[in-house]
Amino acid sequence: SNELMAGKRGLIMGLANDKSIAWGIAKALADAGAELAFSYQGEALKKRVGPLAAQLGSDIVLPCDVSDTASIDTLFSDLETRWGKMDFIVHAIGFSDKSELRGRYVDTSRDNFMMTMDISVYSFTAVAQRAEKMMTEGGSMLTLTYYGAEQVMPHYNVMGVAKAALEASVKYLAEDLGKDGIRVNAISAGPIKTLAASGIGDFRYILKWNELNSPLRRNVTIDDVGKSALYLLSDLGSGVTGENLHVDAGYHVVGMKAVDAPDI
Ligand code: NAD
Repeated sequence: SNELMAGKRGLIMGLANDKSIAWGIAKALADAGAELAFSYQGEALKKRVGPLAAQLGSDIVLPCDVSDTASIDTLFSDLETRWGKMDFIVHAIGFSDKSELRGRYVDTSRDNFMMTMDISVYSFTAVAQRAEKMMTEGGSMLTLTYYGAEQVMPHYNVMGVAKAALEASVKYLAEDLGKDGIRVNAISAGPIKTLAASGIGDFRYILKWNELNSPLRRNVTIDDVGKSALYLLSDLGSGVTGENLHVDAGYHVVGMKAVDAPDI
């Protein structure tokens, strides 16, 4: 435990269960003394998220479906009432119809393209608009992305296109909000077995491939992501904005399968 986040308040969006990347981040922040609020999507998740929040000393657990503008507004007006100001926000939300996270990108439907972009891309801008107003003493915003934005990964398809747009929005948001002392960054996480990841075709193969071919010869954990998130969300990241930090055991620097990596 350290005191990097003492006196800081922030919102965690996208906690579903104890496998969620949001959980790894929330644990690292709470351990550093942050005061946390959580938003969850849908009543079914409330009974999961409530006890997890309680474990980290938080009783602020609020519903928010980011595809619904009124729902986002209600969340932020509730937070405004409780807290007045806030210091950070974590956006760990993405969604696409899993029938289009396999097969060919070229077969993407208009409806799923729009929904994927709305939930996985626009929602970060929508929450940034509202969070900005509460970050009166500066702040730090963080979203989660994946290497499938930069290079073609099997089955990632429309989600790769959405993450590319999300990464571009991080840069535009960083410029807009920088004048107010608000930093905006992304973490590009290596593959981790979560609920969302289980919707991606052949995900077990992708995990194995990364384990065998990344420089660290292992997969990353939600705790690895949590520690890097703490850096970006705390004063340790004070000079960093518009960045996409790869927390992927180095996979993104590899151009060719290593000679010592076994075939799988
Ligand atoms: P997860 O399933 O634990 O979290 C995804 C969250 O998105 C869930 O809490 C879900 O409720 C939420 N969500 C979906 N639609 C929503 C909506 N309309 N409104 C509000 N919330 C909604 O999975 P995760 O892997 O922890 O995903 C978190 C983020 O990390 C996502 O952006 C994902 O794309 C990204 N990411 C994941 C991996 C990986 O391998 N798991 C790698 C890189 C990036």
